[in-house]
Amino acid sequence: MIRTCVGCRQKAYRNELLRVVADSEGCVQPDPHATMPGRGAWIHPRSECIAQAIKTSQFARAFRRPVRVSDELEPSASNFVRSARFRANNPMKAGREPMGTR
Ligand SMILES: [Zn+2]
Repeated sequence: MIRTCVGCRQKAYRNELLRVVADSEGCVQPDPHATMPGRGAWIHPRSECIAQAIKTSQFARAFRRPVRVSDELEPSASNFVRSARFRANNPMKAGREPMGTR
């Protein structure tokens, strides 16, 4: 499953990306379990990509309406990187060596 990051516009596997959704107030919220209904966008869970997406209005484009970004998005993205789910999917990127090396 390949998705495009709305920040850097690079393609990545969806388990490397954080899903975000826009709620009824037009507020972009993190969806770390990728279970929330509605239209979603995908972004690398790092502040550079979030800042880039805000700067270039990629969230509004992805959701096809004006949106603002929840203050929770960035802290949630850093939690997501540390989460068991992300680390299991991305052992190298989470800064952990895979089992069995050395
Ligand atoms: Zn990105």
